[in-house]
Amino acid sequence: MTIPAPVGPYELPALKFGYGDLAPVIDADDLRIHHAEIHQKHIDLLNDALKRHPELYGLTIEQLLREFDKIPTDICATVRDHGGGHANHQFFWKILTSKPAPGPSGDLARAIIKSFGSIDAFKKAFESQAGALFGSGWCFLVCKPKQKFALDIVTLPNQQSLLTLPEPSPGLLACDMWEHAYYPQFGNSRPDWIRAWWDIVDWDYVEERLLGVHQGRAQL
Ligand code: MN
Repeated sequence: MTIPAPVGPYELPALKFGYGDLAPVIDADDLRIHHAEIHQKHIDLLNDALKRHPELYGLTIEQLLREFDKIPTDICATVRDHGGGHANHQFFWKILTSKPAPGPSGDLARAIIKSFGSIDAFKKAFESQAGALFGSGWCFLVCKPKQKFALDIVTLPNQQSLLTLPEPSPGLLACDMWEHAYYPQFGNSRPDWIRAWWDIVDWDYVEERLLGVHQGRAQL
């Protein structure tokens, strides 16, 4: 087994859009707080915990979470909460864009229609499951484990990552259902947040992720 080059401490990933570019769905100041303060805080707390186990700095965040059952018990909760928080937000930023396509197309559209009947039926199912999530968490569109061509919707509580599941489902889409993601703009209305969020999803990139899963490429 080759030992990977050290990658830690973990760093805040740059965004592919400016803080003002997702308005009016996400206001510039809310996006700055979400990225530069909330996401950064997860990274800072994760890095602090890893100082006690610097050998883990050799792992990418994806490797760290996939090895979750081997994480030393004294930092297990921190890795779950803040490692998961780092991974989930990194995923979330990647699937957003200021220049969205009108909707899913090509292989992605075909896969969605095959699994859910239609694009609208998929959106309704996603809105319903995300809306029904109790407390804070995330809603994901995933490829089913061992059935790469079937899609499914999964919700996870708090900052749990798909990567920590016993059989990780490759994620295609991630929607942040923490109040900090939508409350400033949409108040208590999760349905309004999700319906607005569709308009900033980078469908072309989500299709690339699907093709990556089919080709066996690992991605976060
Ligand atoms: Mn968040």
